[in-house]
Amino acid sequence: MTGTMLRVDRAGWEAGIDAVAGATPGLVPVAKGNGYGFGLTNLAEQTTRMGADTIAVGTVFEIDPVREAFDGDIVVLTPWSEDFPATDPRVIPTVSRLGDLARLAAAGERRRVLVEVQTSMRRHGILPAELNVAAGYLRALDFAGWVIHLPLSGAAADEALGLAGTATNAHPGPLWLSHVTAAEAERIGERTGQPTRLRLGTKLWLGAPTTYGATSVVLDVHRVGKGERVGYRQKKAPGNGHLVVVAGGTAHGIALEAPTPAATWRQRATAVATGVTAASGRALSPFSIGGAKRRFIEPPHMQSSLVFVPAEVRPPQVGDEIGVTVRNTTYLPDEIVFD
Ligand SMILES: *Cc1c(COP(=O)(O)O)cnc(C)c1O
Repeated sequence: MTGTMLRVDRAGWEAGIDAVAGATPGLVPVAKGNGYGFGLTNLAEQTTRMGADTIAVGTVFEIDPVREAFDGDIVVLTPWSEDFPATDPRVIPTVSRLGDLARLAAAGERRRVLVEVQTSMRRHGILPAELNVAAGYLRALDFAGWVIHLPLSGAAADEALGLAGTATNAHPGPLWLSHVTAAEAERIGERTGQPTRLRLGTKLWLGAPTTYGATSVVLDVHRVGKGERVGYRQKKAPGNGHLVVVAGGTAHGIALEAPTPAATWRQRATAVATGVTAASGRALSPFSIGGAKRRFIEPPHMQSSLVFVPAEVRPPQVGDEIGVTVRNTTYLPDEIVFD
């Protein structure tokens, strides 16, 4: 083994997926980006295995990576635009602007479409006040339903119910929801008398975090003395001990943080403090050796990282596999290993 990998206990991971799928009527698995760390193809295979009729991808670029491993419908979450691939009956675009809906209706091809309603997210979608106008175009289209994507916080369920009512009054159709619970989706279905679909990613793929984990192989180990200069930046070793060269760097998304969704002042203060440590070059790395995370000697390289292990800790050996704390949605392992 070499490189950095995501190790997955297949039976455990699939049992977690099945538990969520079993509790989510109308489930539409979402496979986008780096495939939540597992890769788009693996998620497409899982979608086939669980027997879902539809998968959702983020962008048109993600259609090809899932279509080989899954033969149902493919919903694209990013709004339709004119460069959307030409009519493939399996691919359902999401139309999020009145002008686009008018254009597709005028094309006279009865294209299958989902139509997005603007929510308090204010990201994409047709304003609730314009849904009657939108409904006028649906006669010329093969309408697959309304899309309602809610923010993660706040009164999502109440808002979804209100918008679902407005939309289905304008034109009846299935409701494709995101970020409500299965119970809330069921209630919305009962109140509106329409079938509901629930798009899920994080909870479905990452819901059983003890069943997968990132590891990196130790590439080299060198004894260093305090003050000895090491690395690209010729920084001084912080003490006597070992310099450990570990597989995994910026190319794998290691030690790259997405902007913090910190909600409280305490969380923000922690983020600032971490930034200060990073700036002073003594940031804690995500690599665990001897039961603790070890400090970076310098910022991670493209495919490997230099970490410092103090003399009192027994250093790992070349070829050892060590644990890495990663954010699954920004991790690009060299390999995904199913155990
Ligand atoms: C990404 C996405 C989802 C899935 O989000 P998770 O929080 O990962 O479950 C659902 N709906 C839309 C529109 C999305 O873009």
